[in-house]
Amino acid sequence: MNINRNLLRQVNETSTEQHPFAFILSCIDSRTSAELIFDQGLGDILSCRVAGNILNDDIVGSMEFAVKIAGVKLVMVLGHSECGAIKGACDHLRMGSLTGLLKKIKPAVQAEIKTKENRNSGNFSFVQNVASINVRKVMKQIPRRSKIIETLLRKREIALIGGMYDVAAGEVVFY
Ligand SMILES: [Zn+2]
Repeated sequence: MNINRNLLRQVNETSTEQHPFAFILSCIDSRTSAELIFDQGLGDILSCRVAGNILNDDIVGSMEFAVKIAGVKLVMVLGHSECGAIKGACDHLRMGSLTGLLKKIKPAVQAEIKTKENRNSGNFSFVQNVASINVRKVMKQIPRRSKIIETLLRKREIALIGGMYDVAAGEVVFY
């Protein structure tokens, strides 16, 4: 199914302008390159990656650039299975500046109320539930933190979707 890509031709075609159609917020995990997962080439998507696909002001600003200036019509939050950042938050890991990043995932850990015991990174389903809740929470936060995005969503000029990438199966489930 792979389209044969000519990267040099893509460089030439996108040398003076870009028309990306999507902004994808995904994790830094070496297995979660949005371009590779969705088979996209140069100029196709704005890829924003941070551990645990969390949100901060700079990322919201990048999204606003995407939808308001770069003409992006689709914003996606993509979580993934076996996420080290989610696991770290589940284990209440504290380490340097990572502590502050993991704090942003803590509300998702607390919102997972199904799991009564083994609430740690060794519990696959617990970690998976937290990852899923985290994606939904980030999706909810986006319009709350950005008036620009909230307005475009309300006018149906852009769409916001979530997804979960399974690193074992190589498949994405969309929310
Ligand atoms: Zn991750």
